[in-house]
Amino acid sequence: MEKIENISTTIPEDLKKCIAFHGHQCPGLVYGYLVARQAIKILTLKRSRDEEVVAVCENDSCAVDPFQVLLGTTAGKGNLIIKDYGKNAYTILNRASKTAYRFSRKQHYTYKGKDKEEFARLDAAISEGSETTRERWHHKHLKSEDLLSRPFDEVFSTEKVEFSMPPYAPLARSEACSTCGEMTMSTKMVCADNGNLLCIPCSKKISTDQRKSAAE
Ligand SMILES: [Zn+2]
Ligand SMILES: [Zn+2]
Repeated sequence: MEKIENISTTIPEDLKKCIAFHGHQCPGLVYGYLVARQAIKILTLKRSRDEEVVAVCENDSCAVDPFQVLLGTTAGKGNLIIKDYGKNAYTILNRASKTAYRFSRKQHYTYKGKDKEEFARLDAAISEGSETTRERWHHKHLKSEDLLSRPFDEVFSTEKVEFSMPPYAPLARSEACSTCGEMTMSTKMVCADNGNLLCIPCSKKISTDQRKSAAE
């Protein structure tokens, strides 16, 4: 893996922050970065302290992290929603202006940078599985640089979508699970046949045990 110190000086400061958070520079990170930056521009966003901005990501890849860094839409605050459809598509919502945009990658990736031969060589090595770790990272690096040099509209389509207010992250009191005794958010608990409240792992264990004894 490339070390953070090797980041070239041409990389913008905000992308450097994303790389520092994520751990490496890769094409996935760049996809997320491009969308986050575009969303900041067209939705006039400031980093979300609370849940003013919401990001809905249609994949769970490296691309998710720039939203956490630049938009403040984080896993912990509940304003980073992951719908794992395996699509390179993102909807960013601004609660204040009640506007939302969906960005979706336009087409299959083709390298357009200046190291075409080297990229093709690395591509071939990767597809036959003979690449070294260094080559794999070099391939990712060339692809990232290429993506960064393109106009946004060449990579992603932008569509204004209807704003529907996403619910705020739920808050609920905790109760002790009647089996393991651990404090558990009450809205996540399961009510057993005898009326006892159980945490999810305990409720699963009980139903497995019941199935086992029914089979005996
Ligand atoms: Zn990555
Ligand atoms: Zn329990």
